[in-house]
Amino acid sequence: MRRRGRLVRHYFFISVLLIAGGLITSGILEIYFRYHESREQLALLQQKAAAVAAVKIERFIQDVETAMKAATKGRDIAREGISQEYKFELKRLLFLAPAITEAVALDANGSKQAQISRFRAVSLDVKSDFSNSTAFQQAKEGKTYFGPVYFVRDSEPYMTVALPIEHFRGNVIGVLQAEVNLKYVWEVISGIKQGKAGYSYAVARSGDLIAHPDISLVLQGRNVSQLNQVQAAFQPVADGQAAWLTVARNLQGRNVISSFALIPRLDWAVFIERPVEEAYETLYASVLRTSSLLLVGVGMALFASLFVARRVIGPLRVLGQGVERIGRGDLGLRLDLKTGDEIEVLAEEFNKMTAALQEAYADLEKKVAERTQELAVANQSLDEASRHKSAFLASISHEFRTPLNAIIGFSEVLLDPSLRVTEEERRQFLTDILNSGRHLLSLINDLLDLAKIEAGRVELQVEPAPLHEILQTVKSTVHPLAAKKSIDIQVESDGEIGAVPMDAARIKQILLNLVGNAIKFAPEAGKVWVRTTTKDGAVRIEVGDTGPGIPAEEHERIFQEFRQVARDSGNDQPEGTGLGLALAKKFVEMHGGKIWVESELGKGSRFYFTLPLA
Ligand code: ADP
Repeated sequence: MRRRGRLVRHYFFISVLLIAGGLITSGILEIYFRYHESREQLALLQQKAAAVAAVKIERFIQDVETAMKAATKGRDIAREGISQEYKFELKRLLFLAPAITEAVALDANGSKQAQISRFRAVSLDVKSDFSNSTAFQQAKEGKTYFGPVYFVRDSEPYMTVALPIEHFRGNVIGVLQAEVNLKYVWEVISGIKQGKAGYSYAVARSGDLIAHPDISLVLQGRNVSQLNQVQAAFQPVADGQAAWLTVARNLQGRNVISSFALIPRLDWAVFIERPVEEAYETLYASVLRTSSLLLVGVGMALFASLFVARRVIGPLRVLGQGVERIGRGDLGLRLDLKTGDEIEVLAEEFNKMTAALQEAYADLEKKVAERTQELAVANQSLDEASRHKSAFLASISHEFRTPLNAIIGFSEVLLDPSLRVTEEERRQFLTDILNSGRHLLSLINDLLDLAKIEAGRVELQVEPAPLHEILQTVKSTVHPLAAKKSIDIQVESDGEIGAVPMDAARIKQILLNLVGNAIKFAPEAGKVWVRTTTKDGAVRIEVGDTGPGIPAEEHERIFQEFRQVARDSGNDQPEGTGLGLALAKKFVEMHGGKIWVESELGKGSRFYFTLPLA
């Protein structure tokens, strides 16, 4: 179970790595670049808006200043100085500059000479002295004075502006002081909208708030010089440019993206700020998008691995179980996997293999049965051979004992002085001893020959030899034997045969044995014949007689050692070693020929053997 799960996990991790890995990398890169881009871009955008506002405010103030300057250069001023008559200029000023609500003309000593107001009645009777006011003093020095912002009725922002009235350049004869309604500045500042929570405010170098959407802050006279962005804005760095602080904290302590523009004329600065969270809203959105994509990717990876698991692991399990069952010997099992892919091919190969295995197994069983059968047969023949060996030994002992007994018995008789033996008898005994010795010798020779053949130590001296001549030699050799029984030996040999490749001595030995047997078993005055014919590239030699014949069941056995056909006539058994035919068979087979007998009881026997001509 654990090993199976491992494959699923591998698939899962690889899918997650491929899908989620790609998504995460691209997502992180996107966020990184967006973060930087959006911050800079926003700051730049805000700065532009601030600059526009600064220009507007500056122009507004400039307009006021220009109108006031015009009022200080009236035609009559040079001639008459600052007097009641100046009121006319003031009226014109109010007409030209709608932002000015009140104007006062002061003489060089700071005493009010003319005054005009849009809203209230003013009387010149109240002689007031302005000589100590900052506005008067600064204007008297020839410089334009812009006073701090103050509020009328707790809502309208005002500022005092004072200008010198000069007779000619450098000769100040009075001061023109005006109260300027800054509603316009307020409108500009509060009209700036940046995003949802973006806002703008104006600050003087002193840190005093001039305009702010939250009017209470201005009314409280809140000084914001401690704000980092304000300090940075009013502190020119080396190249004259104001320091630039993108992210700062606002009065509420919130992180904001802050941009500003300076109004040099008034020494004010317009700030535009926007909460960082809002500025980064798009950024957060993209993070959210990336995360959800990641989630979807991981989900897909999960599904993919489950799919693969179903497609691969299931069939693999079936395969595994199949292998297990076959391992237990269930060779008839066939897998049925129709997945339509490599696994199906594998299952088919698996089935083929199992079929081959089953066949091989069946074949093996058959072969084992066959071999067992063969072994049983071999075992049987071994048994037989063993029995045969015992019989063989018994036969040898028996065969040896008879002639040895004869030799010993006759020798004892001849050596016993108490026994009288005639010359005739003596001769007979010695002949018997000689015959027994010869018999023993031939027996031993035959046994030696057999043993040599069995040991594979006999090699034939094959040379082409004239068969006809060999037959004649055999005939003359056995002639005395045949003559004794008045048997006529007929040799009918095909003179055309000529030389046949053979070991002449062995073939003569075979023929002597066969013809000897024929004479031995043929009756008195019976017939014995030898015939040769050629057929199928071999010479066939037939040795026949008119003897008692051999029963069919003995036809094979007489070619085994010590096999003699049991005869009813008991004692009449002709002498023999029982090895002649066995030797003949061995020699014929060594020549590549065959030997067999055709006979029936009472109808004589015909022994045949063949010799290949090539
Ligand atoms: P043996 O020396 O006893 O003849 P063989 O191997 O030559 O040994 O013969 C085996 C036996 O085959 C004989 O003992 C005999 O019983 C039988 N036999 C061989 N030749 C003849 C024959 N021409 N007619 C009848 N029986 C024969």
